[in-house]
Amino acid sequence: MNPSPPTHPAHFSTRTRYLHPSPIREILSVVNRPGMISFAGGLPALDSFPRFNLDSMPQEILQYGPSEGEWALRQRIAEELQERGLQCTAEQVLILSGSQQGIDLVAKLFIDPGTAVAVESPTYLAALQVFRFFGARFVAYDAEKLDVHAMQREKPVFAYAIPTFQNPSGRCLDATQRDALAAACDAARIPLFEDDPYRDLVYDSCERGPVCGRLQRAPWIYQGSFSKSLAPGLRLGYLAASPDLLPFLTSLKQAADLHSNRVSQWLVLQQLNDPARSRHLDELAQRYRQRRDNFEMALRRHFGDLASWKTPPGGLFFWLTLNRRIDTRQLLSEAIEESVAFMPGEPFLPVDVDSCGQLRLNFSHASEAQAELGLGKLAALVRGFI
Ligand code: PMP
Repeated sequence: MNPSPPTHPAHFSTRTRYLHPSPIREILSVVNRPGMISFAGGLPALDSFPRFNLDSMPQEILQYGPSEGEWALRQRIAEELQERGLQCTAEQVLILSGSQQGIDLVAKLFIDPGTAVAVESPTYLAALQVFRFFGARFVAYDAEKLDVHAMQREKPVFAYAIPTFQNPSGRCLDATQRDALAAACDAARIPLFEDDPYRDLVYDSCERGPVCGRLQRAPWIYQGSFSKSLAPGLRLGYLAASPDLLPFLTSLKQAADLHSNRVSQWLVLQQLNDPARSRHLDELAQRYRQRRDNFEMALRRHFGDLASWKTPPGGLFFWLTLNRRIDTRQLLSEAIEESVAFMPGEPFLPVDVDSCGQLRLNFSHASEAQAELGLGKLAALVRGFI
């Protein structure tokens, strides 16, 4: 791992000062070492990916296409969003090159240096990284106990939220909390940017209806991804937005990459129209549920007296709070020496802290035997710290 950011050459743009290598990319660069047990990335299980058949793909798909994305795919997505309780038309859907692109487009639309952005704490580190790159100042909020007045006082340009199976905490907002978040955005007229890539990985019944669908007045952007439910290598996601925002996001998309990969869009549409899709999603959830449960049993054995956590009702992560506030980045350096990788908690916080004593563990990638071995090694290291 290389902890030092690159220096900023004078002829580069001012914003490259805020450009730091992603901690997760750096960790991913060591996880492929032979013998490494990784709880770090949010990688879906390799054998969960569908087998694609390109035989019937029309040749014209290889031509340039519309920036908004393939019409049939946008229609299909709009239908699905309506079923989830979000009223929108196909015209309001924009296909993305991965939902990470949505984060970049929204940041470009709203953020100047010093602009206030409301984010949960902790939250998705690669969103913090993009928002920071454009110069955002963070207003941290707790989606479970919303302080509406603080939100109004700070006047953030938008609120970024992952209400369902949050990355990294795994928590899912209940109906009351969803209503409160929507009401806070409505009251302060703050656009809500809802990021929802994990919704299909559901293991225990819980409320998953989009918060954007509960808004009365505030502008909104809702985004989803095919990375977790199909395959991340397709690099395909989508957003839907209120009509006041969509044309600007489409222009930004056009400037960024003209349009998303049309072959991926065609493949995804075949999958969405496959009558076996809902069975496939159920099977996927069933497998991950099993992995989550096995992982939690190993966690109880090794971390029962070292940390606390809540069982995630969906998604891919356990979020551990250690009994002592140690610097988990330091713990990671030692763990890598022992061939175990995880995500330290500090990069998920919108404010800089010396040590947070929290860490994120992915449970979908490692086998049961690897989880047992890796958690045992990690617990031994934590005991050495305490
Ligand atoms: N948002 C969140 C909360 C994520 O966790 C991720 C990646 N895991 C993304 C967006 C980006 O996903 P993708 O670009 O693969 O759709």
